[in-house]
Amino acid sequence: MSALRNASIKSSSSISYALARIFSYPSASPARKMSTECKFVQAPHKLLVIPGPIEVTDEVLFANAHPSMSHMSPDFAQVFGDCIRMTRQLLYSKDAQPFLIAGSGTLGWDQVSANLVEPGENALVLHSGYFADSFSDCLQTYGANVDQIKAEIGGAVKEADIESALQAKKYKIVTVTHVDTSTAVLSDIKAIANVVKRVSPDTLVVIDAVCSVASEEIQMDAWGIDVVLTASQKGLGTPPGLSILVASQKAVQVFENRSTPVTTYYGSWKKWLPIMKAYENNSAAYFATPPVNLIYAFHASLTQIMQGTVSLEQRFKLHQEVSRRIKKAAEEVGFKGVPLSEDVQANGMSALYFPDGFTASDIVPRLLKKDVVVAGGLHASIKDKYFRIGHMGVSVVDPSRGDIDKIISAVKESLAEAKASKQ
Ligand SMILES: *Cc1c(COP(=O)(O)O)cnc(C)c1O
Repeated sequence: MSALRNASIKSSSSISYALARIFSYPSASPARKMSTECKFVQAPHKLLVIPGPIEVTDEVLFANAHPSMSHMSPDFAQVFGDCIRMTRQLLYSKDAQPFLIAGSGTLGWDQVSANLVEPGENALVLHSGYFADSFSDCLQTYGANVDQIKAEIGGAVKEADIESALQAKKYKIVTVTHVDTSTAVLSDIKAIANVVKRVSPDTLVVIDAVCSVASEEIQMDAWGIDVVLTASQKGLGTPPGLSILVASQKAVQVFENRSTPVTTYYGSWKKWLPIMKAYENNSAAYFATPPVNLIYAFHASLTQIMQGTVSLEQRFKLHQEVSRRIKKAAEEVGFKGVPLSEDVQANGMSALYFPDGFTASDIVPRLLKKDVVVAGGLHASIKDKYFRIGHMGVSVVDPSRGDIDKIISAVKESLAEAKASKQ
């Protein structure tokens, strides 16, 4: 205890942090109930409102501090199985197949490219920002022929353009970035999936939903979506490190009917499908060690999302309300949204052009001084002209934290200070 005291206690706030940690541990048990037993309080810190990683709850962070567990133990298998079931529910699917694999969102691109597209097959990538270029790059790495349809900056790809591309050529998959994190553009995946089903029903619809799961509604079965890929650290409110991909039974069938072998080892569904099925039956199986603690954290977050006081439907509504509030407040003082119209605006993040005469160095460091951490520009052609705010997860659904008010006043004050400094 005294070593801990000497090593980590520097201020009164970190004392209470350290004590909270010490006192919460004796109650820890493998099956501990986070919501009722969590007395852990995370260390004071700057408000992290980049578009992922986002703020996580004390319960989630405490779950990540679960005592070491065997990945082969029945207790862990049960928790892993719950995660698989809750992930499927989150996407309103009855029978789609989740893959929970250590890795980041990027591993989802590798899984799609290696398992669903065979070398030489065609992929159509709908481009609404930076992330479509990366997905294309990944698909090409595994030998796909990639065509892109590019929207103008701030716009989404038009359905008529998708329709003519599908009529001109046979595509194995169409990929859409649900929310492109470089532009905050939201694509209408329901409408796009409709076009694909109508014009080219065999083509698989793949959604890069890394920045949209749990902040935007996704009805996988009803809308006919074949792959939803995401990661733990954005709307799902869990520390980074988990790749979450959900494949429709149709996609699994396409994988099983491949004529060439899968050209990846770690990401091969041949390896992972039996593992996921075993865990869902609450029995453990081994291919590569899962990120055990992160699965506990993900379980805590999914439990809060699926069984918390805020329903899933209410969660989406809150994200819409908060998004409108932030965008309106920023626009009132002279910022301008990157998305070209309201119907393509994401609800879990904002991308805002600086008012004329101001740059990132006028605003972002001032926000940081107010303990608000935002992200700079990412889209290469407008990089220095805008910045990004993430408003997802607990910052949105728990108003008692005051995160959203804090963001709004910090943005207004930072601009006012920047203006004053130029006079
Ligand atoms: C963050 C993000 C990714 C990449 O996820 P990583 O976890 O950083 O690998 C991919 N697509 C979108 C839309 C993202 O926002």
